[in-house]
Amino acid sequence: VKNQLHNYYAFYNEELKKRIIHNKEMEDRMETALAQHEFCAYYQPKYDTETKKIVGAEALVRWIGKDGKIVPPSDFIPVFEENGLIVVLDEFMFREVCRQQRQWIDEGREVVPVSVNLSRYNIFYSAFVQKYQNILEEYKIPPELVPLEITESVMSEDQELLKNIIDELHEIGFSVLMDDFGTGYSSMTMLSSMPIDVLKLDKSFVDDIGDNRGEKIIRSIIELSRSLGIHLTAEGVETEQQYEFLKKLQCDDIQGYYFARPMPGDEFEPLLK
Ligand code: C2E
Ligand code: CA
Ligand code: CA
Ligand code: CA
Repeated sequence: VKNQLHNYYAFYNEELKKRIIHNKEMEDRMETALAQHEFCAYYQPKYDTETKKIVGAEALVRWIGKDGKIVPPSDFIPVFEENGLIVVLDEFMFREVCRQQRQWIDEGREVVPVSVNLSRYNIFYSAFVQKYQNILEEYKIPPELVPLEITESVMSEDQELLKNIIDELHEIGFSVLMDDFGTGYSSMTMLSSMPIDVLKLDKSFVDDIGDNRGEKIIRSIIELSRSLGIHLTAEGVETEQQYEFLKKLQCDDIQGYYFARPMPGDEFEPLLK
């Protein structure tokens, strides 16, 4: 038994060491990657369900290595959340979207709001509001053009503080979107106190369209958000059936592969008049 235990610990140590090395490598690579512009924003359009007109987009980070391979966010975001670099990455993305919006405005395009994701680490980091405001000023971008998406899981943290931060963001003119709505257990109680502008209905609900109980749940979420006057965007819409169902219930906007996948800026650009 002692021997087995020893082997187990040796194995465990080996795994732990590997993980630490992996994280350290990611960290080192990130600094060079930022300097060498390996990170970029992809844009996924959001459409008005009724008119099918483009009403906005979400900026999603992509890491394109020197070999041209795209590293998906799921591979590096958790590491960056662990080592704190996510704050740097989010700020980079915010700046990148402001820069891009400024360029499109200067080219005379009809721009739409492009939302940016904000990690839990950023939203509770006190310097972030002032930093983001400075970036807006630097590029002369009105805050309405860069809404902020915060994931529903931050609701489990300091709610009073979060509410104050959202109030502050509203004073500046930002819209605040609640990402992955419905995945946290605090969803319903949170709605009465948190001044959220848009709910993004999580893909897991959209996946349940076609299922009787699933459809009833979506129906009640749509009714609830309408009666509260909160805008609703459905995420991860992939099929015609899902689209038709959401249209019938008058869900405001749609985001998903059914209409468009996330794409580089120069592919997204022609969609703007
Ligand atoms: P999210 O914020 O919920 O973003 C939506 C994800 O769903 C994106 O994955 C998008 O490509 C994907 N998606 C959109 N439509 C469909 C669909 O119809 N079907 C399916 N299967 N997927 C769809 P992506 O780009 O891989 O990003 C994954 C997550 O990484 C994001 O989830 C977000 O939590 C995080 N993330 C991405 N960019 C950033 C960023 O700049 N900052 C932070 N903090 N997180 C980011
Ligand atoms: Ca998001
Ligand atoms: Ca989401
Ligand atoms: Ca999701």
